[in-house]
Amino acid sequence: MFSHNRRKLLQASGALAAAGSVPLLARAQVAAPRVVVIGGGFAGATLAKYVRMWNPKIQVTLIEPNPSHVSCILSNLVMTGALGMNAITLRYDTLRSKYGVSLVADRAVGIDAVNRIVTTQNGSRIPYDKLVLAPGIDFDAVPGLDTAVLPHAWQAGPQTLALKGQLDAVPAGGTFVMSIPPAPYRCPPGPYERACLLADSLLRRRRAGRVIVLDANNDVVAEPHTFHTAFRTTYASVIEYRPNSVVSSVDWANKTIHTNWGPIRADGANIIPPQKAGKLVVAAGLLGTNPATRWAPVNPLSYESTVVPHIHVIGDSQGTGQPKSGHMANSQAKVCADALIRYFAGEAPDPAPMTSSACYSPITSKTASWLTVVFGYDAATGLMKPVPNTLAEAPAPSGDHYEDMFGWANNLFADSFS
Ligand SMILES: Cc1cc2nc3c(=O)[nH]c(=O)nc-3n(C[C@H](O)[C@H](O)[C@H](O)COP(=O)(O)OP(=O)(O)OC[C@H]3O[C@@H](n4cnc5c(N)ncnc54)[C@H](O)[C@@H]3O)c2cc1C
Repeated sequence: MFSHNRRKLLQASGALAAAGSVPLLARAQVAAPRVVVIGGGFAGATLAKYVRMWNPKIQVTLIEPNPSHVSCILSNLVMTGALGMNAITLRYDTLRSKYGVSLVADRAVGIDAVNRIVTTQNGSRIPYDKLVLAPGIDFDAVPGLDTAVLPHAWQAGPQTLALKGQLDAVPAGGTFVMSIPPAPYRCPPGPYERACLLADSLLRRRRAGRVIVLDANNDVVAEPHTFHTAFRTTYASVIEYRPNSVVSSVDWANKTIHTNWGPIRADGANIIPPQKAGKLVVAAGLLGTNPATRWAPVNPLSYESTVVPHIHVIGDSQGTGQPKSGHMANSQAKVCADALIRYFAGEAPDPAPMTSSACYSPITSKTASWLTVVFGYDAATGLMKPVPNTLAEAPAPSGDHYEDMFGWANNLFADSFS
């Protein structure tokens, strides 16, 4: 399509060439456009794959320090011992071998947005035409909480196994305390799913004491009917759900969690801190000047930052109000990939993008629930809004949903990483 924008760009390049300088578009035509992606989670991996798959003329470099991605999705089943780490470990090999993505095994530490260069921990300087930031989340400090001792396991990996160790060490009849941060946070139903699986695990090992769930929110944030029902029936003897409960500090030397309701003694604990955009998003000034902003403001047509041009933010770090899920990160990555390809072709982004989110939650060791929603761009407000009648959830947990969960997850893993 020869769009109005593209015509304007070509006219501009012609005028500049006549004046004797090298026009941007002419340079782009001789040298392949360069997209640099920071972070190889569901957002970054999908973006890298789809840009290359849809337009192999674009160079894509993915900067990610870890040799493989460990998925948070299904990670609560590693905590219970139902799955091993290999089931949630996703390799980057196919992105390189099948799609020609250049992988840089390093951590990005700086962005020069004027000269469009990313610097890495090992001292590389990587130039870009378009930069995509997909670094996931960062956490607020909770006074006294040492996550090396009490892992939050809200980023999967070694902390997932450390949390399993916490659970395994709870003595018979002991008390396990877990906390849920204020929304928005990564995976709205995830903490309630974890509470159910902690209780299920203790019950099955005949070690059930109490699981005290301290929720900073005033009610269950996602699938309230499903989780309240589970708390009141299946787990009535184990789970004590306390809304409006905020952890003020942790004194693990004395196995005590301090809250707005007073101290609680615990034998095991999982404190999930309040969350915000990944460190590099904050360091690059992408939150703007309002100190209350926790997620990067972007234009949802392209996920380009509204603060710094040519930097796009996708996945959990972005602040469009859409749920922070791996499924959504994958969906946003495709919208962004399409917008980048159109940009290099001198075209405007799709004016009516749609995205979707899905979360499956194991409720017991044999049943699961699910939640899904579709979002569409609302031109009147410039926001992504839920499409009417698309918000749906499982009427009740079931064994069929538990089986479907693995099919859904494996599809998402394959679509993002292979
Ligand atoms: C228990 C649990 C259950 C969940 N269940 C579901 C579910 O059922 N469905 C669903 O859709 N989602 C689920 N999620 C949410 C999902 O895991 C996240 O929303 C998703 O991982 C977000 O993807 P992301 O790419 O934005 O971030 P991440 O997956 O965190 O990836 C970020 C990547 O960036 C890298 N990175 C960070 N900083 C840098 C840097 N400076 N330089 C280079 N690389 C960097 C990191 O190493 C990491 O690989 C669940 C989450 C949890 C915790």
